[in-house]
Amino acid sequence: MIDKELFKLLGNNKKYIFFVVFLMILGLLFNIGITASICGGIYILYQNLELINFLYVALGLLISIVGRLIITISTGKIKDKLGRDVKKEIRDKAYKKILSLGTRSQGDIKIAGLSQICIEGVEQLDLYYSTYLPQFFYSMLAPIILFIVNVFISWQVSLVLLCCVPLIPISIIAVSKYAKKVFAKYRGKYISMGDSFLDCIQGLKELKIYKADGIYSQKMHDKSEEFRKITMKVLIMQLASTTIMDLVAFCGAGVGIGLTIYLVVNTHLNPILGLFLILIAVEFFLPLRALGSAFHVAMNGVSAGKKLSELLGIDDVKWGKEQVDSTKITIKDVSYKYSDSNSLTLKHINMEFEPGKFTGIVGPSGCGKSTIVSLITGENIVTNGEILIGNKPIFTYSRNSYYSKIVLVSSSTYIFNDTIRNNFLIANEDVSDDEIIEAIKKVNLEKILTGNGLENVINEDSTNISGGERQRLALAINLIRPKEIYIFDEATSNIDVESEAIIMENILEISKKHSVILISHRLENVKNADKIYYLEFGEILESGTHQELMKLNGEYSKLYLTQKELENGYKFTDEEGKYAN
Ligand code: ADP
Repeated sequence: MIDKELFKLLGNNKKYIFFVVFLMILGLLFNIGITASICGGIYILYQNLELINFLYVALGLLISIVGRLIITISTGKIKDKLGRDVKKEIRDKAYKKILSLGTRSQGDIKIAGLSQICIEGVEQLDLYYSTYLPQFFYSMLAPIILFIVNVFISWQVSLVLLCCVPLIPISIIAVSKYAKKVFAKYRGKYISMGDSFLDCIQGLKELKIYKADGIYSQKMHDKSEEFRKITMKVLIMQLASTTIMDLVAFCGAGVGIGLTIYLVVNTHLNPILGLFLILIAVEFFLPLRALGSAFHVAMNGVSAGKKLSELLGIDDVKWGKEQVDSTKITIKDVSYKYSDSNSLTLKHINMEFEPGKFTGIVGPSGCGKSTIVSLITGENIVTNGEILIGNKPIFTYSRNSYYSKIVLVSSSTYIFNDTIRNNFLIANEDVSDDEIIEAIKKVNLEKILTGNGLENVINEDSTNISGGERQRLALAINLIRPKEIYIFDEATSNIDVESEAIIMENILEISKKHSVILISHRLENVKNADKIYYLEFGEILESGTHQELMKLNGEYSKLYLTQKELENGYKFTDEEGKYAN
């Protein structure tokens, strides 16, 4: 009933749990004091004792009530602090984890899932820690304390009440297996609904263009309907188990009360002590009854916590401390398989990227080019083979030192929804306006400075600039901090011819002084490379210079000629815009 991993996440806040439990027990003792004072008052009336005795009883009652009040207020405050501190600590851990993963992907946890886990998931854990856990420990101790107090009045009643108490946790355990399943499903449906919602919003434009918004609206409706159904299931289960717990609690108290009356009538049990037993009987069951109610809230937290533990459990990439002293990259007999894939994506890859050389990696879509980049940048970790920088494995070096040497421009390089200047400052905080403008000029992008110059804001998802301009801007941003290894992963895909030409001009210029690794599906772009690797199905089929590969007359040359033919085929030849075939 306690999740070990979630308990570990408490860290230094464990002490608050025990403090809350201690206060709850004090509160229970004050409750007993209130009941005892009431019984004492009745006893004084019943026995016609001197009125001065009322004063003692009233004083006892007052102390118990005030004590109880103070305990209630302080317990609430400590629970609140516990909840806040745990949430802060967990969010901090999640944030640090995401940072430590760096460029590594977060496995199956998608962006929407990630934000749900870190925002709402952590919020649900609040109740698990601040309500469920203290209640759990308290409800184990409270019946024992009550038994110890009552056993001196009547061992029979105390024993019967104590024996009935475990029926509540038994009923909780009985539903817990089912509840766990339902809650896991509930959370899964919730996250999947969030993912689909984000997906639909992000792709709304495409859905409108394809006139597929109706279909996706129906899909969203279906997902929402599934979520509604599972929510109803959760509510039914909660209601049913609360009813069962109530039944157990009231029946148990009823048995205790019945036995007390029997003992008062048939034995020498004092009626006032009997009254005390009757009034206190329900206290035996209340803590576990409250635990039962908190259990359902906790289950929600637990399933959210599982996702969080999954995130926190992703292995850290252990970068070393050494400074990078060579920019030669070697891929040595690397085979790689994605965890969710059945087959190898890369098979026995051997590549060398010499300092100052221009290397091209080409091949049909899906042959593993970007996977190679992800291994070189440390985004994914090689399990078979080695990635060497100089003569040492990549993770021998400090991440900062390695990243200060490399730059990656891909077709999905992110441009922030900020001013042009700030986008450059992210890449290099010391860059001057003149340097920014110079970089913008290099990629022929002066147009985006019209109006407020560097203060112009790039919209979210770069919607106020064209795809080509976006890629040119991404390149310019990456040009302002001199690096030694430039990796371009399809940096010119899906953009206009003019932008592609400008970007390629810049890449060729860079390749004169620095190492360049260029990944492109268009073979024309790697024609000038010092070495080209041609891949198919995760294997290097051919390697050499363009001339050497063309002479080979193999797959590279076939693809090159096919692409050339296609490109020539689509050239306009006359003013009417007819294609030459
Ligand atoms: P390329 O860049 O040559 O187009 P990729 O390296 O992106 O190819 O992908 C190579 C293969 O690996 C593809 O079949 C792709 O489906 C698969 N793949 C890519 N990324 C992942 C991933 N994160 N999980 C599982 N499979 C992946």
